[in-house]
Amino acid sequence: MTAAIIDGKAFAADLRARVAAAVPAFEAAAGRKPGLAVVLVGDDPASHVYVRNKGIATREAGMASYEHRLPAETSEAELLALVRQLNEDDWVDGILVQLPAPAHIREIAVIETIDPSKDVDGLHPINAGRLAAGRAAMVPCTPLGCLMLLKDRLGDLSGLDAVVVGRSNLVGKPMAQLLTAENCTVTVAHSRTKGLSAVTRRADILVAAVGRPNMMTGDWIKPGAIVIDVGINRVPAAEEGKTRLVGDVDFASAAEVAGAITPVPGGVGPMTIAVLLRNTLVAAHVRAGLAPPEGM
Ligand code: NDP
Repeated sequence: MTAAIIDGKAFAADLRARVAAAVPAFEAAAGRKPGLAVVLVGDDPASHVYVRNKGIATREAGMASYEHRLPAETSEAELLALVRQLNEDDWVDGILVQLPAPAHIREIAVIETIDPSKDVDGLHPINAGRLAAGRAAMVPCTPLGCLMLLKDRLGDLSGLDAVVVGRSNLVGKPMAQLLTAENCTVTVAHSRTKGLSAVTRRADILVAAVGRPNMMTGDWIKPGAIVIDVGINRVPAAEEGKTRLVGDVDFASAAEVAGAITPVPGGVGPMTIAVLLRNTLVAAHVRAGLAPPEGM
């Protein structure tokens, strides 16, 4: 193996510690803790685990966590009423509605009801528009975490060729916007891209955000490239009846070619929750009329 491993777990732990260290000064200035409200509708076991972990991480950072678990039959109108109530609640700086919501609830209606200043997931069209226009915005946690890892490794990204595979509102599109703002030359590839492996081989920075296990092998990668693997895919493990997580990039062959690569698990995944805490802290400062802490 030639590639350096990008340790997202360690970077995320450091970011969480920096967020926690900044909370007492906020509390002293604002007279309250930063607060994150997480709303979950339904009984999806994985979503319950995510929400529980977010609550634990929020409290560990010294912030207030407000969890709202609603039954699966909650109507869209009831959910929107709760979101409006949270919009008006001065103790709440960030609102996250855990997606996917049950099929009878329109996700776009939920996203558009969240006050953009509390939209710590960065999905409101106002925040997406601000990001596209190069203005201050709440940015989705996963791509912002990817950018932090890239800047930590490379410093200045100016002039680098970046290829983002995937164009979702959650990952691919905001990732492309962030890299454009860093003066990369950005290509966004997707399911209709022709000759995808030739496109990815041009990349100094390759971000894989597709959701197909081990899709990108070493021969898709330019020697020395930095590979950020966002994909989280559950596949059968060697041991009967067990599963394991893999990315969109075939780690073994890619690590022979890349300059540096994020592992799955332990790469991008831990960054998402750390950036959620960071976004909540920044939202709290902005709402309280305070300057966000340096280096966040
Ligand atoms: P989506 O399903 O919303 O988007 C997937 C994207 O991949 C689409 O743009 C799609 O193209 C593209 N795509 C699908 N098949 C191909 C193909 N064969 N070749 C090229 N492009 C293809 O997924 P998300 O963006 O939400 O997530 C992507 C991955 O990242 C998933 O594995 C998800 O689990 C993971 N993820 C990880 C997070 C973390 O914390 N680490 C957080 C969020 C997501 P098209 O638009 O043409 O359909």
